[in-house]
Amino acid sequence: MTSTMNRQWRLAARPVGLPEPSVWQWTTEALPTAGAGEILVEVLYLSLDPAMRGWMNEGKSYVPPVALGAVMRALGIGRVIASGDPGFTVGDTVVGITGVQSHALLPAAEATKVDPALAPLPSFLGVLGMTGMTAYFGLLDVGQPKPGETVVVSGAAGAVGALVGQIAKLKGCRVIGIAGGADKCRYLTEQLGFDGAIDYKAEDVKKALRALAPKGVDIYFDNVGGDILDAVLSQLARHARVVICGAISQYNNTTAVKGPANYMSLLVNRARMEGFVVFDYAARYGEAVREIAGWLAAGKVTAKEDVVRGLEHFPEALLKLFKGENFGKLVLQVAG
Ligand code: NAP
Repeated sequence: MTSTMNRQWRLAARPVGLPEPSVWQWTTEALPTAGAGEILVEVLYLSLDPAMRGWMNEGKSYVPPVALGAVMRALGIGRVIASGDPGFTVGDTVVGITGVQSHALLPAAEATKVDPALAPLPSFLGVLGMTGMTAYFGLLDVGQPKPGETVVVSGAAGAVGALVGQIAKLKGCRVIGIAGGADKCRYLTEQLGFDGAIDYKAEDVKKALRALAPKGVDIYFDNVGGDILDAVLSQLARHARVVICGAISQYNNTTAVKGPANYMSLLVNRARMEGFVVFDYAARYGEAVREIAGWLAAGKVTAKEDVVRGLEHFPEALLKLFKGENFGKLVLQVAG
């Protein structure tokens, strides 16, 4: 039965360091009505992303910060329960920026219809959603892998990292993953077919890389920044590409971001380091979804999801990303 109230998490204060539960405010309000050109969506799953930490900060970024008092921004998938737009009917499944709430009023132009028969709903937020697009375009467009090259990926057992490594294997590369803990490292080598894994919590990354990539690193797909970026920079091969996807080790800093001391390695190795934002590839998402869906269907890639149940658990669930407690794409099940 559909609730008559909308339950929401709003940003009550800007976090300093980790986004502790005290930065959130729980509110309930009457369900809005869908006007012309709008749809009312019952949210089923929310994507929890490291980027959400950045959206909570004041200041210039690739999207405006979430305003204090506003419902927290999040991507979600849900079911249309009322429609004021001829393009949508009740029962349609849609993906959009729903926010962290049980119901979302969306401009129809900002919602994308998906076919729920094609994949389990969380996949549309993960491997077939922003996560998949990030891995696909970041590796293939920015990294430009060639067969035989050595690819290193950090955050390797995470949502983006695990797919980057698997796509790099499909492209004929040698793949080394960097992740926290023995379980995650075993998953990379035993289940995903990575050629090597480094547990950054237990090993000296630089030393381990020297052993695993004696000829140097051709592509480094960086999800974490900080000390690990520096360690990999010191092991670059000539003409290496360093893909700056994220820097999760720096997102909760209360001091200045730690920049790469070893950047001169770019000069010595005629290498390049390039950042990217997945949204710039929106016009090409269809191409990536088709190819990734094909790989999934053929069993050539797999994707793991970590589902937390209950909108009320959002504050603790989000923290899992920054504590390395998620294993796979983190999604919050809101209903269904
Ligand atoms: P995820 O990797 O599934 O989850 C985050 C993981 O980061 C944690 O499980 C943890 O794994 C690791 N981590 C947390 N703190 C760390 C630290 N201090 N040092 C090293 N590792 C740490 O998350 P995701 O959604 O796939 O995102 C991965 C990265 O991609 C993030 O940096 C995100 O911001 C970025 N991203 C970028 C774009 C873009 O357009 N550029 C789009 C989407 C995502 P361990 O247990 O291994 O530590």
